[in-house]
Amino acid sequence: MPCTEDHPEDIAADIMAEARRALEICNACQYCNGYCAVFRTLKARRQVGTADLLFLANLCHNCRSCYHACQYAPPHAFGVNLPKSLSLVRQRSYRDHAWPPLLRRRLRYTGRAVVIATLLAVEVLTLAAILAVPAGTLLGRHSGPGAFYRVVPWEVMAGVAGIVMLWSLLAIALSVAAFWRGMGPAPAGVSLPAALRDTVLDVLTLRNLGGGGAGCYGREGGREGGLSQTRRRFHHALFYSVALCFASTAVATLYDHLFGWQAPYPVLSLPVLLGSLGGGGIMAGTAGLALLKRRADPVPVAASVTGGDRAFLLVLFLAAASGLALLALRGTAAMGPLLLTHLGIVLGVFATLPYGKFLHAPFRVAALLRAAMERNAGSRTRPPA
Ligand code: SF4
Ligand code: SF4
Repeated sequence: MPCTEDHPEDIAADIMAEARRALEICNACQYCNGYCAVFRTLKARRQVGTADLLFLANLCHNCRSCYHACQYAPPHAFGVNLPKSLSLVRQRSYRDHAWPPLLRRRLRYTGRAVVIATLLAVEVLTLAAILAVPAGTLLGRHSGPGAFYRVVPWEVMAGVAGIVMLWSLLAIALSVAAFWRGMGPAPAGVSLPAALRDTVLDVLTLRNLGGGGAGCYGREGGREGGLSQTRRRFHHALFYSVALCFASTAVATLYDHLFGWQAPYPVLSLPVLLGSLGGGGIMAGTAGLALLKRRADPVPVAASVTGGDRAFLLVLFLAAASGLALLALRGTAAMGPLLLTHLGIVLGVFATLPYGKFLHAPFRVAALLRAAMERNAGSRTRPPA
């Protein structure tokens, strides 16, 4: 049966078959073994089953090094394009392990869906505020402790955000659990602390984004096909900046609940300093990654993946930018509209987290842990030299 949009299951079968074919060629070739965890893990397999495909696809960081090194890449008759094949399997893996399962067949994670969901969250929040809050309060100047809560009461802010975040966390946790089972049984007789230590190091250093040492492949400074660490640095900026924003929220929550100090806080307070650093870092990281995507050779990545990726970067950028704008203008009449815009974007981001690009983070951590467990199991069963 031809592969058409009307038969998505055929598309899934084609995607899996093509990725399996490419990986089997790689397993015979082994030229790229030094590049990343994908090849090191692949080497231990004689055949590549569906569970292996899910595992290997989520180990890939799409650094493109293997594509540019490949003697079997197009126009060779073998047409091996491993980064593209694995990116399509990854995208399917987000959909096929989404929670609740009812959503799986209907889920279409596109850039448009992410932007529409985020705009919808902003509009619903704004409409609710227009209906519930007097115009004078909404567009008035507020200052001092509790100023934000005069526009959006604390109970409403915490209640709505809490429900969306709890849903999001539950959906992500259950998706990751389904993905973990989807990778097949974990190896037995493993030292879990050692595997966890390796995984944490992998995550904190993003060492697989080093593409075998020289970095990711891209077009930089007008140079075609340069290898550099720039993508890794922008990923680092994004990762640690998101962590700073979470730290800021946690400190603010402690201030509020332990000491009764209500937001907004002074510019030189810990929550504001952490949040400002985090917001600036998110803007730099997302803008840098978006720029690299724009410049990159489009061949080693599937077009259907790129739209969702760009939209995710855009909404993260807007969440950070609106937060910093709120900080800068909180003493003016723009505070109310900016607060609603920022909260709406953040809610939109959280609502869409379990259904697309963000899943690459927890799925990759799970795949890295599985790879570390395999290495650990291998080193325990290997006879001494
Ligand atoms: S990507 Fe190409 S060169 Fe690298 S291992 Fe696979 S077939 Fe060999
Ligand atoms: S694109 Fe990079 S991370 Fe992905 S398989 Fe190739 S070398 Fe490994």
